[in-house]
Amino acid sequence: MSQQDPHCIFCKIVEGQIPSRKAFEDEHLLAFHDINPWAPVHVLIIPKRHIAMLSEVGPEHQELMGRMLVLAPKLMRELGVSNGFRTLINTGQDGLQEVYHLHMHVIGGPRPWLKG
Ligand code: AMP
Ligand code: ZN
Repeated sequence: MSQQDPHCIFCKIVEGQIPSRKAFEDEHLLAFHDINPWAPVHVLIIPKRHIAMLSEVGPEHQELMGRMLVLAPKLMRELGVSNGFRTLINTGQDGLQEVYHLHMHVIGGPRPWLKG
């Protein structure tokens, strides 16, 4: 059974069907630059397999969620962010989630920022 959702834009990015500017990739995770950045550095960290949102995460995802969080500071260091950053996960309608494939925004770089 496929672990991807054929209608999901981020699954298409994982599959290479939609281009992205990649910042990191391993067997579990992909990180790429947000197409509409709020700040000098704005990346999205996603699991490669489709999980719609944080509210669908369970104990079986514990290791994966840890991987996502541990990647954030490593990426920021690699991208030259040295003065702090924001991490943000929007979940569901009231959380203003737009893309229903779990993703963590990691946002940094010198202010002022466009948003956030
Ligand atoms: P959210 O509101 O948390 O669901 O945010 C979705 C984010 O995905 C937004 O910041 C968009 O700018 C970003 N986004 C949407 N499509 C793409 C794409 N093709 N490549 C990179 N980022 C995207
Ligand atoms: Zn997906």
